Amino acid sequence: MIVTRFAPSPNGPLHLGHAYSAIVAHDLAREAGGRFLLRIEDIDGARSRPQLADEFRRDLEWLGLEWEEVPAQSTRLDSYEAAARRLMDEGLLYRCTCTRAEIQALEPRIGPEGLVYPGTCKGRHVDLTRTSALRLDMTRALERVGDLFWEDAAAGVVAADPREFGDVVLVRKDAPASYHLAATLDDAADGVTLVTRGTDLFFASHIHRLLQELLNLPVPTWHHHKLLLDEDGEKLAKSRRSGELGFGIADMRTGGKDGRALADSLRMGEMPCGITLSRFPHGDA
Ligand code: GLU
Ligand code: ZN
Repeated sequence: MIVTRFAPSPNGPLHLGHAYSAIVAHDLAREAGGRFLLRIEDIDGARSRPQLADEFRRDLEWLGLEWEEVPAQSTRLDSYEAAARRLMDEGLLYRCTCTRAEIQALEPRIGPEGLVYPGTCKGRHVDLTRTSALRLDMTRALERVGDLFWEDAAAGVVAADPREFGDVVLVRKDAPASYHLAATLDDAADGVTLVTRGTDLFFASHIHRLLQELLNLPVPTWHHHKLLLDEDGEKLAKSRRSGELGFGIADMRTGGKDGRALADSLRMGEMPCGITLSRFPHGDA
C-alpha cells in the first residue's frame, strides 16, 4: 500500500507551492488506493505557531483534499531522544558547542545545505556548561554502512552520497532533533512508503537514506516534484510573505476563491499568472 504525507511546518502561512506539494502527495496515494497523511512539523519551538496548524487544515479542506492526520512532531520528542542516544552510544555522534559565527570564521567550504562544518569539536573535550548540538560523525557513519542507494521517481536509482554535507547536526542546540532526524524517524513511524517533497530537498534524501541504515528503518522510495517559481525564477517562500504576492492559500480561501478549481488547475500544470514550474535539476522527465 502506498502511503504519502504532507508535512508542513507551522512557521508561516501556506502558499501555492505547498498546495502543489500537498496535491501531488494526495493524488499519488489516492490513485494507488493508498493513504495520504498530514503531519505537522512543529519541533521548531520558538518559530512554531499552533494556530497555523488549524489554518493548514482549513486550507487542505478548501483544496478538496482528504487526509489522515498523524501526531505532530512536538508529541514525539521521546523517539528523537531515543534515536540520538542510540547513535551516541554507538560512537556516531559528538557534541559541538560552536556558534555559527565561530564556524563561519573558519571559512569552511559550502555544501548543498550551506556551510560544511569542519569537524572542530570532533574528538575534543567540550565545555559542558555551554549548550551543544549533536553532530553525526560522517566518516564513521559511512564506514559502518557501505554503499547505499535510494530511488526517486524521476531520477531513478541514486547512489547515496551524504559525505559532502559533512558532520550534519542531528540534535540542535534549541530543539531535540534536526529536520533530518525528525523527518526520517517520523516517516518510518508513520509507515510512509513514498516520500514526496520538492526538488529543493532532493539532496536531503542522501542524508535520510544514511540515517535509515544507521537506525535500521524501512527504506521508502522518493518522489521529488518540481517547484513553483515566481517572476524572478525564485521558489516561493513563506518568508516572502505569501500574502503580499497574492499566492497565500489562506488569503485566497478567505477571499472567496474556489479551492477545488485551483487544485484542478495545478494538477493540469496550469499555473496562475506570474508562476512557472521549475525544471528537474537532474534532467527533465
Ligand atoms: N517540514 C518540512 C517543510 O515544511 C517538510 C519537508 C519534507 O517534506 O520532508 O519544509
Ligand atoms: Zn563545534
